[in-house]
Amino acid sequence: MSAGWPDNHYDIVIAGGGMIGTSLALALAPLGLRVAVVEAIARKALDQPSFDDRSTALSRSTQRMFEAMGLWDEIVASSTPIRSIHVSEQGRFGFSHIDAEEQGVEALGYVVINRVLGNVLQSAMNACEGIHVVCPARIVCVDLAAERASPVVRPDNGTQQTLSCDLLVAADGANSAVREMMGISAKKSQYGQHAIIGNLRPERNLQHRAFERFTAQGPLAMLPVADDRAGFIWVVAERDAERVLALDDDAFLGELQKEFGYRLGEFSHVGKRASYPLTLTSAARLTATRSVLIGNAAHGLHPVSAQGFNLGMRDVAALCDCIADCRVETNGVDPGNEQLLARYAHWRRSDQKKLVRFTDGLVRLFGSSRQPLRALRNVGMLGFDLIPGVRSLFAKHTMGLAGTLPRLSRGVPLK
Ligand SMILES: Cc1cc2nc3c(=O)[nH]c(=O)nc-3n(C[C@H](O)[C@H](O)[C@H](O)COP(=O)(O)OP(=O)(O)OC[C@H]3O[C@@H](n4cnc5c(N)ncnc54)[C@H](O)[C@@H]3O)c2cc1C
Repeated sequence: MSAGWPDNHYDIVIAGGGMIGTSLALALAPLGLRVAVVEAIARKALDQPSFDDRSTALSRSTQRMFEAMGLWDEIVASSTPIRSIHVSEQGRFGFSHIDAEEQGVEALGYVVINRVLGNVLQSAMNACEGIHVVCPARIVCVDLAAERASPVVRPDNGTQQTLSCDLLVAADGANSAVREMMGISAKKSQYGQHAIIGNLRPERNLQHRAFERFTAQGPLAMLPVADDRAGFIWVVAERDAERVLALDDDAFLGELQKEFGYRLGEFSHVGKRASYPLTLTSAARLTATRSVLIGNAAHGLHPVSAQGFNLGMRDVAALCDCIADCRVETNGVDPGNEQLLARYAHWRRSDQKKLVRFTDGLVRLFGSSRQPLRALRNVGMLGFDLIPGVRSLFAKHTMGLAGTLPRLSRGVPLK
């Protein structure tokens, strides 16, 4: 990690050093650019919003990216493979099953705790000469001009300073303030639900199976994590979230067990819980003068199909491809030029829109008690398993392998 450049000029400034901003900085490393990452909250702070106690299911395309970046061996050492996914609906007998072997892959994905992933990414950044981390500090305003972007950085303890860069990347999450500073609006719709996360010990080991169960309140996922434990993501109605979170361990386990059933035997030893309000966020545009949105700043999804981070990683891969190609074409100048930004926006729009529609559709399909939707859902559950190609298309999306893939998503190093 470098101590910064005296003239405060960078090729790229990344606003937000969460899961996506940090991954972008590392992915860019082989290009030898001068990169600054400005992050508001110290990585080890208890309120760090990105590298927290959630478990994230990494898709095949994210795995390939980390392989190409030389980080996968370390990540896989502390993650758990998912070899099958079991999808069911409360109150119905049918269920669907997606199997890694059937898809011709070793695993459908890998589960990692965000904090653990953060440790790996942080030590890789520490070893990287070209990355300057400014933390804790916030970007508080931005001037975007044709020749350069000038973000103003306010450290927690210290004096405000203005940086300059060829490209400003907003990776500051779903409530992105930098997106607003870029003059880009976002459509937001509240799901009226919260995701309660934590981990527990099931009587029967998950044996590398992930479970997703659609309940009257919302989806409930159980993911295999280390030490015979399961990470859960339990979506509850907003009006119920505070009460559920305040339950003592036994009462909490009792309610969770009632929703999930006894497929994994009895639940015990539940850990600390946390709650996340769920909102669908979609930015009106992906770029402005010398600036671009990636990750949750561009699209914040419902966690129903564990896709948000993986989709953001495909933004990272596409942006890296655009920058790498442009440097070859223009002999190393200007990662913030208009053509590059237009190519990125064109490339990413369709994947992002499809996934927003797909996850939003799943939530509405399974969350509705309206008769026509219930009927559609019944066909959907059957069709999902019986109609040739549907299951494999779903699996492809789950693995992040649908659409045109950039180099890193195919596991090809940038350089
Ligand atoms: C319960 C739950 C479970 C999930 N499970 C999965 C899963 O299994 N698989 C999956 O793919 N996705 C999953 N997701 C989605 C995933 O967590 C997000 O898509 C991902 O964290 C987005 O990362 P990000 O870096 O874009 O944004 P964030 O994680 O929000 O990070 C933004 C960073 O920017 C910093 N910041 C904010 N404002 C400023 C500023 N002005 N200046 C500087 N820094 C700033 C913040 O401190 C933060 O560190 C889940 C989400 C939830 C809620």
